[in-house]
Amino acid sequence: MTINHEKCIACGNCVAVCPMNAIYVDTTINRARIDDDACVECGTCFRGMSTENLNPKIARTIRMAAKALRFRMEPEPDVCPTSAIEMNELEMPRLIRQIFSDPVVEHTSTGIKGRGTEEVKTNDVRLRVDTDEVGYTIEFGRPGVGVMFSDIQIMTRELAFLGVKFEKNNPITHLLADESMGNLRPDILNEKILSAIVEIKTDINMVEKVLSTVKMVNLEIDTVTAIGISTRCTDEGDDVNLRPLLEKLGYSNHRAKTNMGLGRRTNKIILTQTEKK
Ligand code: SF4
Ligand code: SF4
Repeated sequence: MTINHEKCIACGNCVAVCPMNAIYVDTTINRARIDDDACVECGTCFRGMSTENLNPKIARTIRMAAKALRFRMEPEPDVCPTSAIEMNELEMPRLIRQIFSDPVVEHTSTGIKGRGTEEVKTNDVRLRVDTDEVGYTIEFGRPGVGVMFSDIQIMTRELAFLGVKFEKNNPITHLLADESMGNLRPDILNEKILSAIVEIKTDINMVEKVLSTVKMVNLEIDTVTAIGISTRCTDEGDDVNLRPLLEKLGYSNHRAKTNMGLGRRTNKIILTQTEKK
């Protein structure tokens, strides 16, 4: 993202809009600037504000005259009055910031916008996680903190060391250069994004190890993480394995989301006498 300094009148309206605090008004040049290292190319400043097309020279002159006369000429707070915020054509590796951070950009690897994964929300039709398996979503960077790929790699390396399975329909998995080692593509390691989700699964015996590893890595990396854990209920709708284990490990267990199985049936189909006929 760029601020066109020919147009910007330093009103400061865009500063509060940026979730990464990447925009500031540089008082030495009296224009807004974007810190390129902090910007994750989410597009919020570009799309989230209304725009007007005031003539920048006239607007600056009026603002200076107003200041001299001790009153202010400020645009409405949600407006960039001179349409000074411009979106750049991005190339890799910087493009990866936009792919993961801009909700209107689709991940080409999964065809899904946003963070690029359905997680287990559609497990009843996709069957990512079966009854004898445990699925995990490890989310980085939310809310409003962001995450470097180098920090995600610290986690993926530790998880690969445990021998977990990375979910193949997940955009982070597509960026693993070496899945067995958990290494991401080296060209993206210095890129920052708004958030991302690593998805893995294991058998139930690994739950304690995975949870303690995520907890340990979370202390080491410069972001925030949240972990979701899931399994597939029995045909009767019970969770007979994971719930008792989580309680034993000291985690209070609340069902956050239950998929109702309204999609294609994947449970064993028991035909009624009428259906058999
Ligand atoms: S809102 Fe527009 S004119 Fe105001 S500081 Fe930001 S870029 Fe400049
Ligand atoms: S694109 Fe997003 S992160 Fe970058 S300056 Fe705009 S609002 Fe901030």
